[in-house]
Amino acid sequence: MSGTLDTLDSVDLALRNKQTVMWINPGRGASGKPGKAWGSELIGEADIFKASERFKKFAPVLTTLFPELEQSNGIIESPLLKVPKLQDALGLSSDSGRLFVKADHGLPIAGSIKARGGIHEVLEFAEKIALGRGVITEGDPKNVLSLAGKELLNQYSVAVGSTGNLGLSIGVIASALGFEAIVHMSADAKEWKKTRLRDRGVNVVEHEGDYAAAVAAGRTEAEQDLYCHFVDDESSFSLFVGYSVAALALQKQLAEQQVIVDEHHPLFVYIPCGVGGAPGGIAFGLAHLFGSYVHCFFAEPTEAPCFLVAMKDDSGGHPSVYDIGLSNHTEADGLAVPRASERAVEVMRPVLSGVFTIDDDMLFKHVHTAWQAESIKVEPSATAAFDGPLWVTESLAGRAYTAANGLEPYLANATHIIWTTGGLFVPSGEYDKFYARGESLKG
Ligand SMILES: *Cc1c(COP(=O)(O)O)cnc(C)c1O
Repeated sequence: MSGTLDTLDSVDLALRNKQTVMWINPGRGASGKPGKAWGSELIGEADIFKASERFKKFAPVLTTLFPELEQSNGIIESPLLKVPKLQDALGLSSDSGRLFVKADHGLPIAGSIKARGGIHEVLEFAEKIALGRGVITEGDPKNVLSLAGKELLNQYSVAVGSTGNLGLSIGVIASALGFEAIVHMSADAKEWKKTRLRDRGVNVVEHEGDYAAAVAAGRTEAEQDLYCHFVDDESSFSLFVGYSVAALALQKQLAEQQVIVDEHHPLFVYIPCGVGGAPGGIAFGLAHLFGSYVHCFFAEPTEAPCFLVAMKDDSGGHPSVYDIGLSNHTEADGLAVPRASERAVEVMRPVLSGVFTIDDDMLFKHVHTAWQAESIKVEPSATAAFDGPLWVTESLAGRAYTAANGLEPYLANATHIIWTTGGLFVPSGEYDKFYARGESLKG
C-alpha cells in the first residue's frame, strides 16, 4: 500500500478517503481451495474434523459446566435463520437469491462468534495437560472435572489480549475449567465486558493502547511464565480451526433446509472481520466443503479495514491501517484491529472472494433494521456484513465479479448468508442506545 499518490487505484483512494468500497481479490483461484500453510505448519481439511471431534468429546464436560447447553447436548451452535423481512428491508430482490442469517450473535457461553475459536483452544490446552498427566484418556475427557483435574489445571493460567469478545470467551471457559484467567484489554473494550469478566473472577488488565498493543503486552508477560498459555489471536491455529467447525454445521443446516449449493446454485457468505481469525477459519472450512461454489466476502469498518489492506498489498510488507492514514477508531469494538493476522491472510489469498467496508453510522442503522425486521438483537460489530448482498448484486465491482465467475444466469438460485457475530450479552441499556442511535440516524 505504499506508492505515490498517482500510482493509487480507486480502491486505495476510497480507503484513504474513508469511503465505503468493495475490493475483489484478483488472486482467487479456480479450485476455490484455501492455502495449505499456517506459518511453517501444514494444514488441511482433516484439521476441521479433528476440531469438530474435540468439541463432541468435550460436550458432556461443557454441559456440566454450562447447563444452558443441555438442550443442544453440549454442542455450541447457532441456528440458520430464514429472514424474508430482513431481505425486504435490505432491498435484496428475490431475482438475486434468498437471504439467511447465521445467528452467531446468540452463541451460548460467550454471546459471540468467539465462543467457537476461544473455547476450542482452551479445551485443547486442557486436554493436552490432563492427558500428559494421565488424568483423562484420549477418548474421554470427563475427568478434567474431577478434583485431581481441577487441581492440575489450577496450576496453569490462560492469558489473552482482546478488544472484548475474545476475552469474554477465553475468560469464561478458562475460569470454569479451573485455570487462572488473565485478559489484557485494549482501550476500545467496553466497560460492561470488563465487569462481566471481573464478576467471574477473571483478572482483567487494562491497556492504554490499541488491540495490537494489548496482545503484545499479554504475549510478553506470558512468555516469562512456563505455566501460562497465551491465546494468540494473531497466530493461533487452534483458534482458527475452532472457528472452521462452523462450516460443518452450516453444511448440515443448509441440507436440512433443502438448500442446494453447486455450480448452478452459488452460496455467498458475508462475515464481519477483525484480525481475520474468525472469518478466515469459517471461510477455510467452507472452502474445503464447497470449493469454488462458495463465495466468501469479509466486512470491515472504513476506519479499520486491516484485512483488505493486507490482502491487497503484494509487497510482502504486511501493512496496517495506520500506514494509509486511518485511525482504527470505530464503534465496532469487535473489529477495531489495526493489523490483520498474517497467517490468516496467507491462507485466504487463493480463496477469498473480496472485502467490503462499512461506516459506523450504517452499523447502527442496521442494528435498528435487524430488530425491526426480524426481532434480532445484535451489537454494531455484528451488522458489518449486512450490505454484502447488495455489494455483490448491485455494485459495479460485485457485478464484474459475478460476470467473471459465470454466475449471472444463476443469481435467482443463489443463497446469501449474513453472519451475525455478537450481541447476546450486551446489557439492555447499552443495546437501547445502539438502537436509538440507529433510529435517529435513519431520521
Ligand atoms: C471478534 C469478532 C469478529 C471478528 O473476528 P476476528 O477473528 O477478529 O476477525 C466479528 N464480530 C464480532 C462481534 C467479534 O467479536
